[in-house]
Amino acid sequence: MLDILAYLPAKKKQTPSGWLSFDAVCCQHNGSTKDIRGRGGLKATDQSWSYHCFNCGYTASFILGRSVMFKARRLLTWMGVPEVEIEMLNLESLRHRSIHGIIQDRQQTWNTLAGITFEERDLPPFAELLTPEHEPYWEYVNARHMPADFPAMVQIENDGIHWIRPHVVIPFTYDDKIVGYTCRFLDNRQPKFISDSQPGYVFGVDLQPADWQHVIVTEGIFDALSIGGVAVMHNTISDAQARLIRSLGREMIVVPDQDRAGIELIDRAVELGWAVSVPDWPAGCKDVNDAVIKLGRLGALLTIMQSREISKIKIELRKKALVKRLRT
Ligand SMILES: [Zn+2]
Repeated sequence: MLDILAYLPAKKKQTPSGWLSFDAVCCQHNGSTKDIRGRGGLKATDQSWSYHCFNCGYTASFILGRSVMFKARRLLTWMGVPEVEIEMLNLESLRHRSIHGIIQDRQQTWNTLAGITFEERDLPPFAELLTPEHEPYWEYVNARHMPADFPAMVQIENDGIHWIRPHVVIPFTYDDKIVGYTCRFLDNRQPKFISDSQPGYVFGVDLQPADWQHVIVTEGIFDALSIGGVAVMHNTISDAQARLIRSLGREMIVVPDQDRAGIELIDRAVELGWAVSVPDWPAGCKDVNDAVIKLGRLGALLTIMQSREISKIKIELRKKALVKRLRT
């Protein structure tokens, strides 16, 4: 694969956490003056790299298995990588795509036809791929049953301006692009999440298991990650989000959080004519992620399928039972 390090300027420094800093290559192409103070940063692994410039703010990243996107292509060009090398990197990367990638391509065509698009966004500066070496962060996502192959990220480098609260970064992807992200803070302070999200976005649409006939619609990112569902990230579903979920062409099963706010999601599901599941989970399980932690992914999935209701009357009964349970 293309060795990006071979194209870096000769003069560079390495930080303790593995970032290389060197004179940024981007600024003069973005209307800023050329960097001479080593404000460009790059961190690379075998499978990915990210670039961030603290002079003009340019960022770009690459993950093996995904296309080389516009911003990464520009960066490589500025570094002096020949066009043909960039094309080879792209082809090689796409060869690493799984069956999910192929399904995704089909989904992409569909979405273009349906007019569903999101713009490409930047990840936070210095976000890097989360690996077992990032111990407390890795333990956190494992405890919440995030699939091991999901490219979560961390941001441990102090950017010199802000003191960074410890957090993991969950990239929002769509059509093979980064279209936003959420930071989940691990220090028990508020807010728990800070997100950059676009209207109508639904997390996990591009992560759906290829052979499922259903799509499990949840509220939270970790609910979706742990069960293989999607997350609307609120206790309602906007019209644009409903369109995006429908474009999957599967049967929708809405699984609300079992709290007061979840009631609203049930009403919205009924309005949309989607199935609802309110399983009788063990005490202390308030949402899908709790259930997966307690029962395992398959166990939680079974409870969801068993409690799936389509008839409005039966959903209404389930809702009443939940309201009653919440009061006691
Ligand atoms: Zn720059």
